[in-house]
Amino acid sequence: MIVPDLDEGIERLSAMLDAASFILPFTGAGISTECGIPDFRSPGGMWTKNKPIDYGVFLADPAMRVEAWRRRLVMDKVFAAARPGSGHAAIAHWHESGKAPHIITQNIDNLHQLSGVAPECVLELHGNTTYARCVDCRTHYALDWVWTHFHPDHGRAPECAACSGPVKTATVSFGEPMPQAIMRQAAELARACDLFIVMGSSLKVWPAAGLPVLAKEAGAKLIIINREPTEQDEIADLVLHHAIHEVVANVPRPLSVTAHG
Ligand code: NAD
Ligand code: ZN
Repeated sequence: MIVPDLDEGIERLSAMLDAASFILPFTGAGISTECGIPDFRSPGGMWTKNKPIDYGVFLADPAMRVEAWRRRLVMDKVFAAARPGSGHAAIAHWHESGKAPHIITQNIDNLHQLSGVAPECVLELHGNTTYARCVDCRTHYALDWVWTHFHPDHGRAPECAACSGPVKTATVSFGEPMPQAIMRQAAELARACDLFIVMGSSLKVWPAAGLPVLAKEAGAKLIIINREPTEQDEIADLVLHHAIHEVVANVPRPLSVTAHG
């Protein structure tokens, strides 16, 4: 049900948050636009500028590895300067209240962790761009290490010090297998929660976009907070087409009712 009026939407959202015992937030790029990180699909988003580099292309073509790292370097100031926004803060509050033990995110920006949620409680479906790893032996590398081993003009992407394999941001590229254990855990949580809240996702990226459907089918209520319509609006119990900060700024704290336990 789409509720166009902001105040009415906030009232319904607050009531659903209070009534829930197990909230599962599911976030996308839209929760981080207020933090200065562009999303993919809004006008002017990253998608309109650079078509993503497929995993297979990254592995096969050294020039595309250089290109991938050049793009990451261009974005480095943005990612490094970004701080959690009001949406992250609201979710951190639900987490602290005990009602939202885990957060599922499609984001790669590390902002839920920076908002104070323990890393093991953040399920990153698409990895994390704030560090790198070798695609062969999985050795982790700090980005500082990458920047000392990479210069776009030298035409060589960083290689693993241990095995010479290609080093890539610790993200899941298009064409790269999803992290199976995390997907399994996310699906279990989606089946178990009683309130699934999508915040800032176009729900166009699969299989991640299957999780709200799974939650709904298992009996949870579904809320979508997204500036634009999504393909799952019609199955949702509450849809707010507003900016996340406008919505969460007016949701009362603390949440009432006993936590999931
Ligand atoms: P998306 O770009 O497909 O969709 C983002 C949605 O958020 C859009 O529908 C847009 O209308 C909405 N939105 C933007 N700002 C908003 C705001 N302030 N309030 C409410 N809604 C807002 O993003 P997605 O569905 O997350 O999928 C894109 C993929 O790209 C993700 O899987 C992710 O891995 C990656 N990505 C991540 C980041 C990040 O980590 N911050 C940024 C860009 C892309
Ligand atoms: Zn290696």
